Amino acid sequence: MKICMVGAGYVGLVSAACFSDFGWTVTCVDKDPNRLADLKAGRSPIYEPGLDDLLERNIKAGRLVFTEKLGPAVADADVVFLAVGTPMRRGDGYADLSYVFSAVEEAAPHFNGFTVVTTKSTVPVGTSREIERRLKAKRPDADVAICSNPEFLREGSAIQDFTHPDRVLVGTDDDRARDVMERLYKPLALRGSPVMFVERESAELAKYAANAFLALKISFINEIADLCESVGADVQQVASAIGKDRRIGDKFLHPGPGYGGSCFPKDVSALIRTAREARAPVSIIEQVERVNHERKLAMAIRVVEAAGGSVRNKTIAVLGLTFKPNTDDMRDAPSLVIVPMLQERGATIRACDPQGRRHAEPLLPGIVWCDSADQAAEGADVLVVVTEWNEYRALNLEALKARMTGNTIVDLRNVFDADAVRELGLSYSGIGRGRLD
Ligand code: NAD
Repeated sequence: MKICMVGAGYVGLVSAACFSDFGWTVTCVDKDPNRLADLKAGRSPIYEPGLDDLLERNIKAGRLVFTEKLGPAVADADVVFLAVGTPMRRGDGYADLSYVFSAVEEAAPHFNGFTVVTTKSTVPVGTSREIERRLKAKRPDADVAICSNPEFLREGSAIQDFTHPDRVLVGTDDDRARDVMERLYKPLALRGSPVMFVERESAELAKYAANAFLALKISFINEIADLCESVGADVQQVASAIGKDRRIGDKFLHPGPGYGGSCFPKDVSALIRTAREARAPVSIIEQVERVNHERKLAMAIRVVEAAGGSVRNKTIAVLGLTFKPNTDDMRDAPSLVIVPMLQERGATIRACDPQGRRHAEPLLPGIVWCDSADQAAEGADVLVVVTEWNEYRALNLEALKARMTGNTIVDLRNVFDADAVRELGLSYSGIGRGRLD
């Protein structure tokens, strides 16, 4: 089985590495010269646990190659995956499909023999049909079947998610394509992951519905957390109590500064636009988007309040900037709202992040960059945990306190034991765990 993976980003690169590890031959194509230079030198351009080893093993075995040349890779492939970005379009919030369509146009002249073309990118319902229409117009003779195969992996645990998915979802109405996709995913089916074949429209919409539902769960627990603070309940206890109910489940019930990342914000926005266009508005999801936007602003205000009502001329230590731990991805991270709001109000930010600095630095000017939490705490009036990297959970708070000028901790991820922090004489503000004392 020969695969052409178009796009070597978080999804394309992880998928390419995992497919090659199954034994398939994968040619991964990307246009970004820096990314390609890294990959050709055997370096991963992204931080993803376990990826370096997987790349090294499969490049060495000759099953995984990287190139900028789409044509030969398409001509040789049984399956062409489109794993390019589908960012939020400026202006209307819809998914920007220009990368998908330009990859399709570029690939069109090169199809050779029966080829499955499948989106792995998250694309709005109807995109497979539109790809088919464009390909038919450009290459009426091409023997291609267009499928939808949305990807559900999470950054930070992408390899585990790809190799042990809850399900593989394939949208197709073509029997030959079904056979090819069945063969391709056989290694996962043998391990017990169901491979589901559905209509293309169902597959496309299921990806958005899944992300919107998870975003809704996060916004739900964030609002319950606020309520907990007002009535003296503890959101951790509430979440763990309701999470035991299997109809609810205990995942995605962690309150925090609002969801971010490369998927939820843009996918929620795109679903809202699709639904409005289809005259079937998803008003619950519209509320989720609004609530999440306001949440990020409210988190900055929470820090200002914790600092005594003003952060002017104050120093704030910020631990973690990426949208979640175990990734270097800064797309739509809550820190991109919180940090500038504090800076605008006159605060000096001393920040650290185990992997995020390279991407965060151009996005967050004016920060004093630190290599560790200890260094960030030096002279800080307030210390804020924005991203729950594991290494922040085990910090020596006494040592941190000794470095700080002030004594306030704002824990937007509830990584610290509130009582232990207070026992040290620090003032603690967590999420949904009672107000600042
Ligand atoms: P990304 O921005 O990290 O990577 C996209 C890559 O595609 C880039 O390296 C870019 O240079 C390349 N590219 C763009 N046009 C190209 C072309 N014509 N030819 C070759 N390469 C081209 O994006 P990502 O995070 O990997 O996301 C890709 C898609 O997968 C998106 O639709 C996203 O919504 C979806 N998705 C992402 C995740 C995630 O966790 N990141 C999870 C599930 C689904």
